[in-house]
Amino acid sequence: MTHALPSYLNADAPGPWGVYLQQIDRVTPYLGELAYWVETLKRPKRILIVDIPVRMDNGQVQHFEGYRVHHNTSRGPGKGGIRFHQDVTLSEVMALSGWMTIKNAAVGVPYGGAKGGVRVDPRLLSRGELERLTRRYTSELNALIGPDKDIPAPDVNTNEQIMAWMMDTYSINQGRTATGVVTGKPLSLGGSLGRRDATGRGVFVVGVAAAADAGIPLAGARVAIQGFGNVGNAAARCFHEAGAHIVAVQDVTGTLFNAKGLDIPALCTWVNQGKPLAAHPEAERIPNDAFWDVETEFLVPSALEQQITTANAHRIRTRIVLEGANGPTTPEADDILTQRGITIVPDVLANAGGVTVSYFEWVQDFSSFFWTEDEINGRLDRIMQEAYTHIRDTAREQKVTLRTAAFILACERILKAREMRGLYP
Ligand code: NAD
Repeated sequence: MTHALPSYLNADAPGPWGVYLQQIDRVTPYLGELAYWVETLKRPKRILIVDIPVRMDNGQVQHFEGYRVHHNTSRGPGKGGIRFHQDVTLSEVMALSGWMTIKNAAVGVPYGGAKGGVRVDPRLLSRGELERLTRRYTSELNALIGPDKDIPAPDVNTNEQIMAWMMDTYSINQGRTATGVVTGKPLSLGGSLGRRDATGRGVFVVGVAAAADAGIPLAGARVAIQGFGNVGNAAARCFHEAGAHIVAVQDVTGTLFNAKGLDIPALCTWVNQGKPLAAHPEAERIPNDAFWDVETEFLVPSALEQQITTANAHRIRTRIVLEGANGPTTPEADDILTQRGITIVPDVLANAGGVTVSYFEWVQDFSSFFWTEDEINGRLDRIMQEAYTHIRDTAREQKVTLRTAAFILACERILKAREMRGLYP
């Protein structure tokens, strides 16, 4: 087996893919004979780079670059979100696809890992331009996606409307309505109850479990949340309803602080009206960098990757980091926090609630039989709690962090499947 990697897969390359590779290297010594297959996880199975020409409202044609990466399909079809962001790179999409492979195996949903993205700032597009971009991108992905091949979902700056356009475009190209090609759809198009809040709810469920292990009472616990989008907003509501105090929230518009706890329902109403979070009048606005100094019991990064680094890890004063975002902590920062006795509930566990209810949505679409919200939330909570317990027990047995334990369990599942399937030809 050759170990020479193409240059763009190099672990020394900075960026999220380098972080992902370091995480795989850290878990390899724990994989025993399965380590024979670990190279599989260091290379995406296939990468598609597409040009997306869009006729803008002013009549000019603008070109955008889009990606879809199938990282691994040993355990099932590809699954992972679509990101629209001005800083999207191939390294980022590759890393996100790798984390999807690990996450899906860690919580035991029957998928491989995939991810997609377009380098675009959607805030600069009109609704019509956004729709044309989404439809052309979907059309370019036609060969890769499909209900039994690869099932996209929302991620940063994509939502139910974008999933509806993707489903419609794919369906038109196929000549049949295929609701199961994406998840995170509107309810009226085969979406699932509970999907919108599922990631944030899952973050909360594992947060409660970790707090119980650490002896931290939830009522009155202080929480700081970075990102107030799909994940951060839902996590904030769950913690607030459980009696915790959300003392700081940061989004792209700025940072709000209130030592007694922010009025989360009022903030949600404000943001839902399209107003900038940081302009909310009833909270103190603090400098963005001061967010990392706020003393809390829970810190919930729920925005982008590589936010907790050697630059701020020493300053963070919290008991539990709950990774709502994918890849928010660099390996070096991970070590610093661990040495300081801070528990990190890793992304591949903490934010797996979204893909879990996406799995429920996909199952419901296939059977055309829809479940109640109580059934969905009950099953979600059970899967998240069981995954937490299993990972926590592995961490204790092997004397490793929760991240390494999650990677051990996931890599074992993926590489056993790899081994059983064998190598073709
Ligand atoms: P979103 O677009 O709904 O929200 C992103 C939030 O992050 C916004 O509030 C935005 O203002 C904020 N943000 C962006 N840049 C920032 C910056 N530089 N500093 C501070 N805040 C910033 O996205 P989302 O779906 O909530 O995803 C957030 C994270 O969670 C991503 O890492 C994503 O991959 C991960 N995730 C999402 C899901 C899901 O179901 N949506 C599932 C699993 C993981």
